[in-house]
Amino acid sequence: MKVTDHIEKANGETLFSFEIIPPVKGKSIQELYDNIDPLMEFNPPFIDVTTSREEFVYIDRDGLLDKKLTRMRPGTLGICASITHKYNVDTVPHVLCGGFTKEETEYLLVDCHYLGIDNVMALRGDAMREQKYFEATKGGHPYASSLVKQIQELNRGNYLHEVIETDNCSDFCIGVAGYPEKHMESPSLKSDLKRLKDKVDLGADYVVTQMFFDNQKYFEFVDEARKMGITVPIIPGIKPIAVKRHLQLLPQVFRVDIPQDLVDAVEICKTNKEVRQVGVEWCIQQSKELKEAGAPVLHYYSMGKSDNIRAIANEVF
Ligand code: FAD
Repeated sequence: MKVTDHIEKANGETLFSFEIIPPVKGKSIQELYDNIDPLMEFNPPFIDVTTSREEFVYIDRDGLLDKKLTRMRPGTLGICASITHKYNVDTVPHVLCGGFTKEETEYLLVDCHYLGIDNVMALRGDAMREQKYFEATKGGHPYASSLVKQIQELNRGNYLHEVIETDNCSDFCIGVAGYPEKHMESPSLKSDLKRLKDKVDLGADYVVTQMFFDNQKYFEFVDEARKMGITVPIIPGIKPIAVKRHLQLLPQVFRVDIPQDLVDAVEICKTNKEVRQVGVEWCIQQSKELKEAGAPVLHYYSMGKSDNIRAIANEVF
């Protein structure tokens, strides 16, 4: 079922969902199940599975370094299929521009359709680790907007190199990313919102936001988006701080602000267990307020262990 249909069916009630990251190569999927199991009692209507783009590794061959491309966390679609099969829940694979040609994307979408996947999240992806800026893959998309367009064309039977008339067209519901504190490369929040509007005009059905720690940022973002004519659901993405290092890491990687009260509360913690508890308490307050304000879904970024997401959901749902 489509994410937008889940939201409509909930009739104003806030839903719980979360995002997981595929395990690194060589790890067992059981570890993932062990982290999903405790969250299933909160009835997530959908679970997102991220995609990691390719990266370079250097292999020492008799003193000479051989540079090779690899994917550390393959398996997004396989994991989606296993989760849907095991838990009977919708899954949302993240589809990236970076690292994929349009043809590869088409094959991936065809596989998604065969697997009965109704939703995809269309994303540009970040620059590769060694690059300063994102560079479009040869034969791939430069922005998420053109990926959205490809998916919508496929929904109409317009494949890249042929039109296939069929009564079995895909009908993907498309999610895209939004940034309450603007995307790091964007000159202003307004121009970033215009880009978001482009994605919606091209056929995106809903937006999931980057993490934020101050709800006001989300509320203002939703207001500005509505003023600009973006009417689709805007789902807040929420991440509990889990280790002290997040105070530097999250602003650096995601360009998000952390409110001073939260910084102070984390800084006085003596152990990571205490930090985790502070993160949980902050998120409970954030979640309660977002729910109260009528957010359609609270979407949690669950990186690894899910005990903190469970503790939050226990208080909120
Ligand atoms: P876009 O919408 O293409 O925007 C990228 C930048 O380009 C923005 O600054 C925008 O303002 C600008 N822009 C857009 N169109 C144009 C144009 N026509 N001309 C000039 N500028 C333009 N990354 C992963 O690698 N894997 C994941 O699974 C993943 N999941 C994510 C899930 C969520 C909910 C979010 C919020 C992010 C996720 N990301 C993921 C990170 C995402 O890929 C990065 O934030 C990336 O840098 C931007 O992706 P986007 O889809 O927002 O790009």
